[in-house]
Amino acid sequence: MRQKMLSEMLKERFGTKVYKLSMTSGCTCPNRDGRSGFGGCTFCSEGGSGEFAAPFLSPEEQIQAARQRVDAKFPARIPMSERKYIAYFQAFTNTYARNPEELERLRRLYAQTLQRPEIAALSIGTRPDCLPPEILGMLRELRAVQPEKPVWVELGLQTVHEKTAERIRRGYPLPVFEKAVRDLKEIGIEVIVHVILGLPGESREEMIGTVRYLGKTEPAIDGIKLQQLQILRGTQMADEFRKTPFPIMTLEEYCALVRDCLQVLPDDIVIHRLTGDGPKSLLIAPLWSGDKKHVLNTMRKAVSDL
Ligand code: SF4
Repeated sequence: MRQKMLSEMLKERFGTKVYKLSMTSGCTCPNRDGRSGFGGCTFCSEGGSGEFAAPFLSPEEQIQAARQRVDAKFPARIPMSERKYIAYFQAFTNTYARNPEELERLRRLYAQTLQRPEIAALSIGTRPDCLPPEILGMLRELRAVQPEKPVWVELGLQTVHEKTAERIRRGYPLPVFEKAVRDLKEIGIEVIVHVILGLPGESREEMIGTVRYLGKTEPAIDGIKLQQLQILRGTQMADEFRKTPFPIMTLEEYCALVRDCLQVLPDDIVIHRLTGDGPKSLLIAPLWSGDKKHVLNTMRKAVSDL
């Protein structure tokens, strides 16, 4: 592949394999509590798109608990004392501070997490409409205190097409995303963007169009996450799908689409993921996405000669 995958980029940047720790900020989501909308994005499950995160504890307790899980999974490769981790806040909207107290709590949480010697980088998942000046100020401070540790903000865009954004009830228009990218890049934050391929009503060309657009943003984004639409039990999209089923890609169709998407992206964008792995227990469709190993192998073959 012309582009680097995340694991490759991390190894080059930190000189070692870097593991991901799933953390929780305790934030909710403005697209659920009424500030931007009610009910959330139609594909989002109760877990706020971060099904594997730990319950809310102090940063030290969370890091310890997440490390135990990760270290047990990868026991022998690197001595525990030398391991590096990314503290990854994915579920819900992790810059959603509704008052000065919540802002202060987030400031402490992220600063304390970043201070830990084993934490190499901080990754904060959020919405582009949740980056007011005080949050940008907090992010700027985090960068200034430990400039050697990158801070990433992951924005859930999913699509550039407004008709789909309305249909999935994303709750903000594209110019809000564009401003967020400018604001974040101006203060030295690395921006990673999530895209969902296979949203209802979108053609293959429209999906590639979203990725093509992301390959050309000014300023440039740093990374991209591609994932297949997953219909999860308990979501509004599951109801919609039951009442009026829409086409779901086969694994082969999805891999071919990802291949075409990679071809419209520049060389220097980092690919954070090519497939999603949502909770199997909630998965309605596509059923192939429950077999992670098979999906990864098929994807690897599909893109290996790019
Ligand atoms: S913004 Fe994120 S957490 Fe909120 S409803 Fe949409 S996907 Fe779920």
